[in-house]
Amino acid sequence: MQNTVFNLNLLQFHFIPILKKNNLFLDRDGIINKAIIRNKEISSPRSYEEFILYEDLKILNDSLIENNFNKIVISNQPDIERGTIDLELIKKINQLIYKEINVNSIYICPHTNDKMCKCRKPNTGLIEEYFKKYQRLGKNFFIGDTIKDLKCSKTLSIPFILRKTQYNKNLVNCSDFAIDSLNDLKNIFYNNL
Ligand SMILES: [Mg+2]
Ligand SMILES: [Zn+2]
Repeated sequence: MQNTVFNLNLLQFHFIPILKKNNLFLDRDGIINKAIIRNKEISSPRSYEEFILYEDLKILNDSLIENNFNKIVISNQPDIERGTIDLELIKKINQLIYKEINVNSIYICPHTNDKMCKCRKPNTGLIEEYFKKYQRLGKNFFIGDTIKDLKCSKTLSIPFILRKTQYNKNLVNCSDFAIDSLNDLKNIFYNNL
């Protein structure tokens, strides 16, 4: 029973009202900030110092993107449940993301895999929660770097944009778009909006 209650607690942080009809869903680690490799696995920053923004992030403030999309971060952060990161750090990082890219909202699954929640990607609960509140009207895109993002995106029939890295070369062929830099997003949107 305790798990069931906890499963409802996906985290939402809202910064800017949702006013546009198109949505750009962004994974956090590996897209906004550099992923951390810990014990040979892709992991999340556990301190403010480990949270290193990508240099190409500023393109998300370009007018083509800013005028057309709501920007929604969709992130698994199981370290919250593990207790290896606290909520205050998550909030501090969220503020930084808001300052950098005018993010509208940030949706976070705080659960570990064994909680079997609906919000942990590749499950679709985070985006479904968003669409419960804001109608699915215009175009949607999902930018991610792992198989979990890809599967989540595919389940919801949202075109998937892979940010190519060393660890995801196997996903290039099953993604709708694959980019080396966020600067390449403008080309995609010029041709697909
Ligand atoms: Mg990621
Ligand atoms: Zn969850």
